[in-house]
Amino acid sequence: MDAMLKDQVAVVTGGARGIGRCISQALAAQGATVVVADLNAEGAQATANEIAAATGARVEAMGCDVSNVESCNKLIDDTVAKLGKIDILVNNAGITRDKLLARMAPEDWDLVLKINLTSVYACSKAASRYMAKQRSGRIISIASVVGVVGNAGQCNYSASKAGIIGFSKSLARELGGRGVTVNAVAPGFIQTAMTDVLSAEVKEALLKQVPLGRLGQPEEVADAVLFLASPMATYITGQVLNINGGMAMQ
Ligand code: NAP
Repeated sequence: MDAMLKDQVAVVTGGARGIGRCISQALAAQGATVVVADLNAEGAQATANEIAAATGARVEAMGCDVSNVESCNKLIDDTVAKLGKIDILVNNAGITRDKLLARMAPEDWDLVLKINLTSVYACSKAASRYMAKQRSGRIISIASVVGVVGNAGQCNYSASKAGIIGFSKSLARELGGRGVTVNAVAPGFIQTAMTDVLSAEVKEALLKQVPLGRLGQPEEVADAVLFLASPMATYITGQVLNINGGMAMQ
């Protein structure tokens, strides 16, 4: 069988580690040319080299600060200048600054909204210009179960992730006629640096809410992104794919 993403060009933000790294690996393994974009340019280069060696795909690294709209525009323009086009955009970069609302400083709010949500606006706007012209494209953004059900201590994070869901549904309506699909993936609690910081008690309490009884693995999120990017998902747009072990059911 031919690789599913042969001749496709994909950009993954926050691709140097964690879920973004696994997504980059999964897309490259299916033959896509992948741009690993990250704030940590050195980390992105190391990840790109490792994935290229493991998959034989062309993998490029680009430094990018998604909290800066100009940097997002440059990432997409440089990708098209270097690789000729962009077929798949994965908006994955994200951070947490957890605090109860009473203690949440305006900077904690602004930074999380900027990195998690304004980045999705900026990268999607830049990429959709090219995708609309070529009349095909996939935009996939990483939301969170917390954007669906909420979580005490994460008003900023859950607002940003719920924002991604509303944004994706609206853009799916705008771009449907141009052959571009727009979807979100909402992971539950996945084993990465982001969840490694949680205490054993918090993890135990979380697992009680998960019917599958374990944290998810980044590869399990990457598989969902690969599906939405693949020829198996041509008639899916404006959807939220929940990858949460059953933690929230819709
Ligand atoms: P992670 O391990 O912390 O990795 C995040 C990546 O994003 C890092 O490589 C980081 O670079 C990069 N990044 C941070 N700020 C950036 C910026 N301004 N510009 C460009 N890149 C930036 O996180 P993860 O767990 O893989 O999470 C990936 C996505 O999944 C996030 O959107 C997160 O909200 C979402 N998610 C995660 C979970 C979970 O349980 N882990 C659950 C639901 C949703 P540095 O190395 O330089 O910091």
